[in-house]
Amino acid sequence: MSTGERPPDAHQSIATPARMRQLMARHGFTFKKSLGQNFLVDGNTLDNIVGAARLTERSGVLEIGPGAGSLTQKLAQAAGKVVAVEIDQRMLPVLADTLAPFDNVAVVHGDILKIDLDELWRTHFANCAEVSVVANLPYYITTPIVLALLERRLQLRQMVIMMQKEVAERIVASPGSRDYGSLSIAVQYYCDAHELLRVPRTVFMPPPNVDSSVIGLVVRSEPPVQVTCETTFFALVRASFTQRRKTISNNLLQFYKNRWNRAQIDAFLEAVAIAPSARAESLSMNDFARLSNYLTSI
Ligand code: SAM
Repeated sequence: MSTGERPPDAHQSIATPARMRQLMARHGFTFKKSLGQNFLVDGNTLDNIVGAARLTERSGVLEIGPGAGSLTQKLAQAAGKVVAVEIDQRMLPVLADTLAPFDNVAVVHGDILKIDLDELWRTHFANCAEVSVVANLPYYITTPIVLALLERRLQLRQMVIMMQKEVAERIVASPGSRDYGSLSIAVQYYCDAHELLRVPRTVFMPPPNVDSSVIGLVVRSEPPVQVTCETTFFALVRASFTQRRKTISNNLLQFYKNRWNRAQIDAFLEAVAIAPSARAESLSMNDFARLSNYLTSI
């Protein structure tokens, strides 16, 4: 290599415990548990996450919660444009420091659940061929973040996101399994969902009290089932899982008690070939879609 050439990793990655400690000390920073601040300090884990996202210079990336910027640095090297939304103002000078070598990163100070994402897409991603969300999520709001991003129907290719292992298992679960529930159906309606990576608590600073998983959610061009009214469909799914050990007939009777009696509910179920004694966890998305479309039609 000629002496003038800059290797791709010429900047100092902060993904080691010693460097993260130094950086935090230099900025007088202390971790806030209430914001889910567990920072990644392991280069291999970061490389695996970024590798799984298969980014190119034409990719845009939205990162939620850059923290000190260890994942952001790697994303900036792999993608054309990175937008990192961070709620904690105290992180801004730290990020200005760690992201100084990169001219393709925009840090946005704000709450991911409150900022205008359509506007963010228009401002930052207009020239990108496709956009991915890649993030080590703040675990206390994993589900609202995932659902908000999907329900908004943004131009989004995929999400590669780290979360508490138990939530990941619920998202990717199939019918008949212990973890299958309304969250599995809500996410799988929009995405093809896979677990990509188990991550031990030792790769974080400070270590969280839970183990983590990285999942891949590839956004579908169309839902796998045809639903005539999505509001009815999602309300029905949630109602069916209210008490997991109860039959679907009992859960629906409780939910629709001001509208229909048991005989009617059981007749509706039988009309779409679902046994009233079945439990929601044994039903596929297709079963819920058939029932929802039937209820919408009567
Ligand atoms: N990406 C960094 C890493 O992997 O080292 C930090 C990840 S840490 C698990 C989660 C980050 O999300 C924290 O920096 C936290 O301040 C930020 N955060 C928490 N709630 C947020 C919200 N509502 N909107 C944006 N960022 C948030």
